[in-house]
Amino acid sequence: MKTKIVPIDEKNIDKEALKEAGMIIQKGGLVAFPTETVYGLGGNALDKSAAEKIYRAKGRPSDNPLIVHICRMEDMNSIAAQVPETAGKLADAFWPGPLTMILRKSGKVPYETTGGLDTVAVRMPGHKTALALIEAAGGYVAAPSANISGRPSPTQAKYVAEDMYGRIEMILDGGDICIGLESTIVDLTERVPVILRPGYVTKEMLERVLGHVEIDRAVLEDGQAPKAPGMKYKHYAPKGDLTIISGMQEKVVAEINRRCREMEKEGEKVGIIGTDETAAFYETGNIKSAGSRTEESSIARALYRILREFDDEGVTVIYSEAFEEPAEGGGMGQAIMNRLLKAAGHHIVKL
Ligand code: AMP
Ligand code: MG
Repeated sequence: MKTKIVPIDEKNIDKEALKEAGMIIQKGGLVAFPTETVYGLGGNALDKSAAEKIYRAKGRPSDNPLIVHICRMEDMNSIAAQVPETAGKLADAFWPGPLTMILRKSGKVPYETTGGLDTVAVRMPGHKTALALIEAAGGYVAAPSANISGRPSPTQAKYVAEDMYGRIEMILDGGDICIGLESTIVDLTERVPVILRPGYVTKEMLERVLGHVEIDRAVLEDGQAPKAPGMKYKHYAPKGDLTIISGMQEKVVAEINRRCREMEKEGEKVGIIGTDETAAFYETGNIKSAGSRTEESSIARALYRILREFDDEGVTVIYSEAFEEPAEGGGMGQAIMNRLLKAAGHHIVKL
């Protein structure tokens, strides 16, 4: 299959390109498109064969359910069997935006889309191109991240092409992504809302609307069975062997320098994920700053790009600073640390 790559500008959307993309999805094909979180791989959420195509294109296990993206608030009512009051409140507060809600599914959504579950994940994204595409595609677009399963989610169209060229009909290239980490997922099917995956919308932000919210323990602890089926797979993994070093800044820098020298002696190609505050103090290896610690959003945006760059550069061993003590929560640090821990297979050294 030849993949058509079409540039698209959120501020001045090419209507012809959008119509073509919408038709591809309506006919059962796949189109990758930008959202505010990461690039998505879109297919018709109500068509079971489109869902199967998504699993095949990504090499994703078919028990890992897809998020259904909508563009009109009222469409939540047709894919969910019941919409609890909490869902209405969260939609008012955070949609369109980077928040996914788990609800009981209606008969309209095939089990192929929900990985066999009786619940459905639903989100209205806050990106104009995404919203326009969902509308052109008929209103219900299943869209996991547009990467091969197990690789970092794409934050630029070139990374979508790297993974998906020849596997899907079209890629809408909307440039760099704004947030850079996947949506927050909150499960509203239990008595107390539970965060299954942390993201831009934090626990504190949800609690301001709902009162008490819990976090699935598997989000930050190793060895717990996660409630979101997809969170159990090794995800976001770079090719190099990644270790997180956590502790006081100066000690972390010294330890990473020591380990890098040792690894280089053994012939490894080392990469370092540091910050603007520390980058100048590293002595060897391929040093990359994820941004300033005073601006967590820049670190979130840079993380997957850096992991992919290390892959392209043939880095075999990676050391990263830690971004937040997970138990403390708060801000985007928790989402960053959740993805970093998964990328490292939970390999963290505490000094
Ligand atoms: P991605 O599409 O790559 O952003 O991944 C979607 C995530 O949402 C995966 O971790 C899924 O396991 C999770 N998810 C989707 N639907 C459900 C559901 N009904 N219940 C729990 N988790 C879900
Ligand atoms: Mg994904």
